[in-house]
Amino acid sequence: MSQSPSDRKPRRFPLQLDQLAASRSHGPRPSSSSGVRVPPNAPELLRPQAHLQAVERERRRQHAPQGLGLDSVHVRRRMVERLMADGISHAGVLEAFAAVPRHLFVDTALVNQAYEDTSLPIGLGQTISKPSVVAAMMQLLCVRPGLNGAEMGVTPARPPLGRCLEIGTGCGYQAALLAYLSSRVVSIERLHDLHAKARTNLEQMRTALPQWPEIRLIYGDGMVGHAPHAPYDTIIAAAGGSALPQAWVDQLAPGGRLVAPTQEGAGQVLTVLDRLPDGSLQYSRAGAVLFVPLKSGTT
Ligand code: SAH
Repeated sequence: MSQSPSDRKPRRFPLQLDQLAASRSHGPRPSSSSGVRVPPNAPELLRPQAHLQAVERERRRQHAPQGLGLDSVHVRRRMVERLMADGISHAGVLEAFAAVPRHLFVDTALVNQAYEDTSLPIGLGQTISKPSVVAAMMQLLCVRPGLNGAEMGVTPARPPLGRCLEIGTGCGYQAALLAYLSSRVVSIERLHDLHAKARTNLEQMRTALPQWPEIRLIYGDGMVGHAPHAPYDTIIAAAGGSALPQAWVDQLAPGGRLVAPTQEGAGQVLTVLDRLPDGSLQYSRAGAVLFVPLKSGTT
């Protein structure tokens, strides 16, 4: 039950004698939360554990996964505003960033930075990419020329990423964003511990959002793509190699687009590959980027 300000009593422990006398002179107290009525003249209940309980409540509030707690909604909204200022305009991409709780995917020690536009460590020497970079890559996929092709039969009711393949699941954050805009996401990770971590993170999110689309997590070498669910309308890589693996090119559907960092000189560029509806390939570049290396094999 709530108290009016005039009913509120000092709760400090230990009370000074004069404070104790003053506290007794107040009027009736409201019912306690257990529903027990406290007599008007009863002495102040001393609760020496109260501050410890408050500290514990605060610790849990800050560190325990908060599901889709409303307290993170406004920070996500601010992140979305920054993405818009950075030139992201695709409504679906912005909605995905507003919906997916990035703080659920990072270590508790980094929760305070979860909505900064910064890459963050996710363990095993890997990083979760900056939101602005992920958003730019997703937007590139969402505006691919093949999307409106009659061959694909895409209607506005169909999610713009269609069947999507992600290479480099990491902590699973980007997979969740992709799922928001896809009919199916297949995501591959070569490091077993990260594959398991992503599974836990995404499971936790599904509990909060039972309607969330299914994401297939594969433990394996993403260099070979994932033939059982090919072809894909969209392919996105979160790790950069010296060239695009042939398997990715082969598994790209007509009208599909692939975005991946690739080595160029001493740095990396974002390579965009379109498979036009007639099957031909068209390469372009979308600026310099910095991603962790694409490695072969599993660990
Ligand atoms: N999208 C991720 C970012 C992961 S960082 C997220 O949202 O967290 C890139 C990931 O690519 C790393 O986890 C790394 O282990 C993985 N990776 C690198 N080479 C790979 C390969 N050949 N197959 C699958 N995953 C690979």
